[in-house]
Order: sequence, then C-alpha cells, then structure tokens
Amino acid sequence: KFKGILIEKDEAGYRAALQDIDESQLPEGDVTIRVALSTLNYKDALAITGRGPVVRRFPLVPGIDLVGTVEDSTHADYKAGDRVLLNGWGVGEVHWGGLAQMARLKGDWLVPLPAQFTPQQAMAIGTAGYTAMLCVLALERHGVTPDKGEILVTGAAGGVGSVAVSVLSKLGYSVVGVTGRPEEADYVKELGAAEVLDREAFSSPGKPLARERWAGAVDVVGSHTLANVCASTKYRGVVTACGLAGGMDFPSSVAPFILRGVTLAGVDSVMCPRADRLVAWQRLGTDLDISKLNLITNQIGLAEAIPMATQMLDGKLRGRVVVDVNA
Ligand code: NAP
Repeated sequence: KFKGILIEKDEAGYRAALQDIDESQLPEGDVTIRVALSTLNYKDALAITGRGPVVRRFPLVPGIDLVGTVEDSTHADYKAGDRVLLNGWGVGEVHWGGLAQMARLKGDWLVPLPAQFTPQQAMAIGTAGYTAMLCVLALERHGVTPDKGEILVTGAAGGVGSVAVSVLSKLGYSVVGVTGRPEEADYVKELGAAEVLDREAFSSPGKPLARERWAGAVDVVGSHTLANVCASTKYRGVVTACGLAGGMDFPSSVAPFILRGVTLAGVDSVMCPRADRLVAWQRLGTDLDISKLNLITNQIGLAEAIPMATQMLDGKLRGRVVVDVNA
C-alpha cells in the first residue's frame, strides 16, 4: 500500500482525503514511478476543493506535477532508477497524478529530470513556473524585446507570477508587478519588479482603450483584469493570457486589437508539445536565477496539501508550494 490523496464523488458528496491506496488500484500505464515530490498549483487546488470542474474521473489522485524515480518500465526510453519529471497531459485531471507516493502513467508524457535542477528545484518551478516560461517564450516569439518597454505581470505574488517576474527581470526587461496584497510588494520587488501596482487599478470594468503603457504582459487573472491590460497595451504590444484566477470571462472589445494591433497570445501548458516543453525547461535552466527559488518556495507534507488548497484559492499563498509526498 502507499499513501495518497484520493478525490471521490458519490451520494455522500465531493471529498478529498489522505488514504492508504493499494498498488492494484493504480491506473494503466507503461511506467511506474516512486514519487518524491509533487506541487500545489491553482488547478490542484480547484481539484482538491471541488471549486472548479478539474477532475473528470472518480476516484482520482490529484497532482498535475511530479518528480520521482522509475520503479518499473516497459517504455523504451525509461528504465528502473531513472529520475523523471511530469507536468500536465491531463494527469491530475483524468489520469491519477502526483499527490501520492506512487504513480503509473504513459512514458511518452515524461521528460528526464533536467540536469540543471534538483528534484526540489524542478518542483519549485513546476507547472506554474514552466507556464511562466511558456509566456516569456511567447513574448519573445512575437518580438517583444527588453528595449520595447515595460512588461506587466498580474498575480505577481502567486506561482506563475513569481517565476515570470524573476525570469523577465533576469532577461533585462523592466517588469511591473500587480498584486492584491500590498504586504507582498517588497517580495515582488525582491524577485526583480521595478514597480508594483495595486490589483484594484485593473479589476473593475474599464474603457475599451486606455493610456498606452505596456510593451507586453503576462496575465494569470483573466476577466476585467485581462480586458484592462489589453486596453493599456502599447501599439503592437503582446499580451499572453494563461490564467483565470479572477474569472474565466473576457469582457473586452476588439479596439486594442484592431486599432493598436495588439496581439493576444494564449498559453497552454497541459497539451503543449514535447519539443516546446524541452525548450521551456532548458530556458528555465539558463534564465531563472535559481537562488530566487528559495524565496519563492514553501515545502509541505502530503496531508497539508488539503487545507492549503483552500488558502491558495483564497489568494493567501505566496509563490510556489512543493509537496513532499513522503512527509
Ligand atoms: P496562484 O499561485 O494561486 O497565483 C494566483 C495569483 O493570482 C494569486 O496569488 C493572486 O496574486 C492573484 N489572484 C488570485 N485571485 C485573484 C482575483 N480574484 N483577482 C485578481 N487576482 C487574483 O496560482 P498559479 O498556480 O500561479 O496559477 C495562476 C493562474 O494561472 C490560475 O488561473 C491557473 O489555473 C493558471 N494556469 C494556467 C496554466 C495554463 O496552462 N494555461 C498553467 C498554470 C497555471 P496577488 O496576490 O499577487 O494579487
């Protein structure tokens, strides 16, 4: 038997609890992994609390990230003892995930643990950090270079935001962070933001076009925030949208796109092709100041992930949460 968080839904309701799980219950897959660490992302918090429709099969072990050691494999690329990393591919949504001591899944979803990172560092980055890097790569792909002007990062004290601020500032961009927590302004500046703005300035309905300020943006919030970010983006600027922490709606107009040539670039980490993932992880190895990870990360045990999920959705957590599934 192994320990894991199991989400169940039946007549008794929707619930997540730490349980002893029999290995025979593990789903099908060609690689069995002894998990070392997982993480708590916003999506995991939605899954654990049931506040969002993330889990699409019951019972299910949540956890969209994991790092661990291969115990058994019939996949050509992996053998017992290999250290592997997994992000997304529907794991923790339709396939059992990382918030347990064992996992069995498709070897095609795995990547070898990048040599630049310890297992802790890889999970401190996790899906949130790898998504932040996908946003940076999208800005670069659309020609946003540091000389073009300021880059806005919303949800700056959260997981995606913290890594985005760190990477962008190391790359030489002038970063402006947005947070709803004034007490975290110094933290966001320590990560590299030149200025920190209050979330209030973006969260109410605004005009279709506002004063042009941003050359680029990384938005994790959606809703009015994303609309206001687009409205205040400079001529030919680029807004990357990856999150919905403030809502899934997008109450905007076409004005920024047709009058200022603004580009709205969608970013998805879950089904992102393997080649792009490898580039993102390789770039994290060169463009993220690893010393910042200590500032960004908290480590907890498996049982703590359940109460922490509520705190995360209430916007009370700073940076990233690494889960030691064996603690
Ligand atoms: P997180 O650590 O909880 O960070 C979210 C941050 O958003 C919070 O720390 C808070 O930052 C801000 N926020 C929360 N509620 C808000 C509200 N009502 N209005 C405005 N701001 C609010 O979560 P995360 O793991 O970084 O994920 C962030 C978002 O990105 C989530 O929506 C997640 O689902 C999404 N995401 C998407 C992908 C993808 O593949 N597209 C991948 C990873 C994450 P402040 O306190 O600093 O304001």
